[in-house]
Amino acid sequence: MPLNRRQILAAAVTAAALAPRVVVAQTPPAPTTGPFTLPPLPYPTNALEPHIDTLTMEIHHDRHHGAYVANLNAIAKDYPQIAAAPPAQILQKLGELPEQIRTGVRNNLGGHVNHSMFWEIMSPAGGKPSAELAAAIDRDLGGLDKFQNDFNAGGLRVFGSGWTLVTVAPDGKLTLETRPNQDSVLMDGKRVLLGNDVWEHAYYLHYQNRRADYLKAWWNVVNWNALNRRYAAAKAGSLEI
Ligand code: MN
Repeated sequence: MPLNRRQILAAAVTAAALAPRVVVAQTPPAPTTGPFTLPPLPYPTNALEPHIDTLTMEIHHDRHHGAYVANLNAIAKDYPQIAAAPPAQILQKLGELPEQIRTGVRNNLGGHVNHSMFWEIMSPAGGKPSAELAAAIDRDLGGLDKFQNDFNAGGLRVFGSGWTLVTVAPDGKLTLETRPNQDSVLMDGKRVLLGNDVWEHAYYLHYQNRRADYLKAWWNVVNWNALNRRYAAAKAGSLEI
């Protein structure tokens, strides 16, 4: 018995529902050549699930950080001096750059160093604080629990986009700080031990407006092994960004 029109339609709808979902190929980031390069993630984009979702990591690393790098390379075409010294030196002496590129370098070189640090200090298997770092956290930040609560509170206080972070002085002293936009503590001649990105692009796909939940979950993916290395390097004067 031939199918009537309604049955044919129903069969077509069922077939469509059962068909594999078409995955739309994402546009790769614009190729960029120049003195600045996007550092590869030190782990797969799905490594920080469920705390940071795969799509957020792809977009955040490839597109957002990729854009800062592309913008820097575009500026460097006419102003190669922005790549002629380490980022810390360039950022600390922004006032010596031509006025027309100062804001672009502040935003994009700041974004580049902030994100290069950010990828490094996360991991699916993060270890734990060294005895030396744990002692500094107790001494300067009131212990691990208080430190994490205060760090998260700093992230909640940032209005709009920015960073909550801990700076480390050459003598090892730790200080909680925040910065708006992509401002870097390197601008102030400081070094960062760790920072969390509270721009909405860092969490909105999974957490939407729940920044507090993101801040809390983020501690599950902190790479303490990297923090231990950064702390020792800061005291040795060899922490570059
Ligand atoms: Mn970001």
